[in-house]
Amino acid sequence: MSLEENIEENIQLINKYDIFESRFGVFKILDYDLNLDERKLKFKKYDRVLCEDCSQEIEKFSFVCYNCYNKETGCNERNRMNHGICKSCFTLSTSYGCSICNIFKTSDYDLNLDERKVKYRNSNYVLCKDCYKEVDYYRFYCTYCYFKETDVNKKFRMKFGSNYGVFRTSDYNLGLTKRRAKYKYSKHSLCEECNNKINEYYYCTYCYYKEIDNNKKLHMKFGSIFGIFKTSDYNLNLEERRAKYRNFYGIVCEKCNKEIKKHHYYCTYCY
Ligand SMILES: [Zn+2]
Ligand SMILES: [Zn+2]
Ligand SMILES: [Zn+2]
Ligand SMILES: [Zn+2]
Ligand SMILES: [Zn+2]
Repeated sequence: MSLEENIEENIQLINKYDIFESRFGVFKILDYDLNLDERKLKFKKYDRVLCEDCSQEIEKFSFVCYNCYNKETGCNERNRMNHGICKSCFTLSTSYGCSICNIFKTSDYDLNLDERKVKYRNSNYVLCKDCYKEVDYYRFYCTYCYFKETDVNKKFRMKFGSNYGVFRTSDYNLGLTKRRAKYKYSKHSLCEECNNKINEYYYCTYCYYKEIDNNKKLHMKFGSIFGIFKTSDYNLNLEERRAKYRNFYGIVCEKCNKEIKKHHYYCTYCY
C-alpha cells in the first residue's frame, strides 16, 4: 500500500467514523415520559443512545439507563423510567409502590367482572395500563378511559368483558323465543340504543318506558307479529279465539292497548 493509498484509506475511515459519531442519540431525562414504543420510534435512526445525565450507553431494548435507575430511589420516578407517563392526563398515580404486577392490561377487558376480581384479588390497587389511574374494585374498568372511549363496542367490552351480545333494534322484529335463542350464549345482552342491559323478557326496559308511541312499545315487547284483539272477538268462543290468535307472538286489546294474556283471551283490564 502506497503512502497516498494509506492516507486515502484513513480519510475514509475518519469519514466513516464521523458518520458513525453523528448517529449517536442523546436520551434526555424528559424522554422517560415516553413509553417504550415511543422511545423506540424516537431513537430508531440512531445506532447508539447515550444517557444525557451520565453519558453511559443505554440498552435499546428497554431504553432505561440502569446506571441512573439504580441510583434512583423514588418509586414514582422508577416507574416513570420504566413505563413513561400518560399522554392524556400527564399524571402518574402516587398512591402505589410498584405497579408492575398490578397493571390492568387491555386483554383483561375480555374477562367479565367476576374473573377480573379473581385475577386481582391479592392486589391492593390496580392501575390502568394506559393512564395509570386506579381501576376501581367494584366496577373493574378504568372509568377515565371509559368516558374517553367513543367506540361503543369497546365501551361494552370494558364494562362487561368480551362475552356479551348487542341487542339490535332490528331484533324487536323477532318473537320472544327467537330472541332467547339468539342471545342464549351471551351472558349479557345490551341495548344497542342506550347500552343498558336487556331484561329477562328480551326487551330494553329503559327504551320501553322512554318510548311514547304505543305501537312501537308493543313491537318491542312482542315482535313484529302481534294481534289486535277486537271487541267483536268477544263473540267468539275460547276455542275460536285460540285458533285465531295461535300464530301471534302477543295479543293486545283494541280498546285499551293493554296486553291480553294468552290463556285468558279477554282483556282483564276492560273486563
Ligand atoms: Zn444515566
Ligand atoms: Zn415499579
Ligand atoms: Zn385508564
Ligand atoms: Zn335501550
Ligand atoms: Zn282492554
